[in-house]
Amino acid sequence: MKLLICAMALVLATSVYAQRVNPLLTPSTLPFQAPVFDKITDADFQPALEEGMRQQLQEINSIANNPAPPSLVNTIEAMERSGALLRRVEPIFNGMTSSNTNPTLQKVEREEAPKLAAHDDEIYLNAKLFARVKAIYDMRATLKLDPEALHVAERYYRDFVRAGALLSEADKTTLRALNKEESTLETDYRNKRLAGVNAAAIVVDDRAQLDGLSDADIAAAAQEAGRRGLTGKWVLTLQNTTQQPALASLKYRALRKRLHDASSARGTGSDANSTGTIITRLAQLRAQKARLLGFPNFAAFALDDQMAKTPDNALKLMNDVVLAATARAREEAARMQKLIDQEGGGFMLAPWDWQFYAERVRKADYDIDESEVRPYFELNRVLNDGMFFAATRLYGITFAERHDIPAYDADVRVWEVRDADGTPLGLFYGDFFSRSNKDGGGWTSSFVSQSTLLGTRNVVTNNENFTKPAPGEPALLTSDDVQTMFHEFGHALHSLFSTVRYPRSNGIVRDFTEFPSQLNEHWAFDPVVFANYAKHYKTGAPMPPALVEKIKKTKTFNQGFSTTENVAASLLDLAWHMIPADAPAQNVSAFEADALKKYHVDVPQVPPRYHSTYFSHIWSLGYSARYYSYLWTEVLDDDAYDWFMEHGGMTRQNGNRYRQMILARRGSQDFAAMYRAFRGRDPVVGPLLRERGLAVTKITKTN
Ligand SMILES: [Zn+2]
Repeated sequence: MKLLICAMALVLATSVYAQRVNPLLTPSTLPFQAPVFDKITDADFQPALEEGMRQQLQEINSIANNPAPPSLVNTIEAMERSGALLRRVEPIFNGMTSSNTNPTLQKVEREEAPKLAAHDDEIYLNAKLFARVKAIYDMRATLKLDPEALHVAERYYRDFVRAGALLSEADKTTLRALNKEESTLETDYRNKRLAGVNAAAIVVDDRAQLDGLSDADIAAAAQEAGRRGLTGKWVLTLQNTTQQPALASLKYRALRKRLHDASSARGTGSDANSTGTIITRLAQLRAQKARLLGFPNFAAFALDDQMAKTPDNALKLMNDVVLAATARAREEAARMQKLIDQEGGGFMLAPWDWQFYAERVRKADYDIDESEVRPYFELNRVLNDGMFFAATRLYGITFAERHDIPAYDADVRVWEVRDADGTPLGLFYGDFFSRSNKDGGGWTSSFVSQSTLLGTRNVVTNNENFTKPAPGEPALLTSDDVQTMFHEFGHALHSLFSTVRYPRSNGIVRDFTEFPSQLNEHWAFDPVVFANYAKHYKTGAPMPPALVEKIKKTKTFNQGFSTTENVAASLLDLAWHMIPADAPAQNVSAFEADALKKYHVDVPQVPPRYHSTYFSHIWSLGYSARYYSYLWTEVLDDDAYDWFMEHGGMTRQNGNRYRQMILARRGSQDFAAMYRAFRGRDPVVGPLLRERGLAVTKITKTN
């Protein structure tokens, strides 16, 4: 009897197992088709991705072989509808490999990335399909298309041409091989970079060396050590950037140097996490790809479909900034050297000293430090009374937390977003804290994208890497963290307000995509918004007016440094992507030194924001030759912010106009034209220099 029960239980278990359906294969029945994170397992992704590609190729072949003459509906719209399964799975998979990865997912990623790249090639190098797209493109003027349909038809044609549709069969084969190699190398790069950042964490044996860090930071370092089986020690983990937050407070200079050296050396050397070979090959093969497609270098190819159009335009903008930025950085360095000398330090300011002495100068000149500020930036207050509050004020939208929607980690929270009239707009996920299985930095992505053609709304997610507080402690943010939150939420709003018909219209070019996010940063320091959230986490007391004034003053503080490290990274990126196709593999450190010298951004104390070996943006995150976009879009956001100020500031009327003319339109129109319509003219750089405090203050009379 006992045996029988066991046997039955086994049968039952087996049948339950056998009946389990891969949840990714059917549309989610959750609100807004939110991913069913409580049901999805790691093993579900690979079969769903493969099936998704198979289904889409079948659909694409039917479109290509349709005997009816090509029309917008039977070709472009049919392509827009194709690949429903892949469209569902891929964003969730990408989300998990970025925010919640593990060796299983990394293996799937490694295996599927080249297949996904080859899948895109199958579509964009399908000659019959291209003939139909080209037919529509050629007769577009006579088809009486509405502006969005016309724009989509043109973008499809350009997408095909950029993917190689006009190439000979032999060149198409070469291109396919280059794409496949590129995608494999990008995945290798990502995994090595993540392993590298974990391996580079600094282990400290002696608590005395941590002098200067707050008790909370020391507790977090002890916790991290415990997690790594190093109980009794302290571990300082690294962030993506060259400069590390702890450098601002560590008093022990030798530890600062150790931390900075570990950060800068990531990916160099010849160990398992070295990325040098990968990036030199990536630069080379991208150049070869560009030559095949008729461009002198990869940057020319990459910028051809951007708002900037050419590398020269991007270089011009940066050159306009370099002189003012490096001159200010040298002034800042001199000010710090003076402080070191006054104290009898007896050393020259080095990159690992910059954050520490900048903090000292800030205290001396502005009498402010982050530990004084952080108690007023408690995460939940910043979120509800700042970020959400500002959005309600500008656009009338509201937020209701949904505890019933499953997430992939206990720390991830979900809200439903509603329009002013109560109409649902979509879901917003917040994944705020750093984890070892999560990419560094902050970013926004969508699990589901809006399209009236498909009847979908947005399910959008914000990722940050704030330090997770010890249990029971509040999450107290730095002013940079607050800015990052508003930034990523600007991206989220851009998605949530989308009113496009075609999924393709959701494609935003890199040198426009950071404009709405950076504009949203301005509202964090709007006086009304700021007063609403910046309250002491214990007492609820508003931030004292004197401290608010100091924070405002510090907005231009250290901007010589920040702008220089940013523009150095941007120029380094362009340099890597302007090498000719026949150039040999480069020596990474020599190439980097040459490039920084050539563009006059070789300030010894100000290394680039990312050194080449750990510059994820350009090697694996889609910013290749487009890192300049951050500065370019800052020109737009400061200029657009001026428009708000010229028209009465943060009003619902202004918010609605901006929402309708920019955010809601996504990529359904030419970006330069869209901006011009909103602003009434092309953007100008003056507001950026003013906002960063880099505007020329001394005018030399020449007459
Ligand atoms: Zn951004």
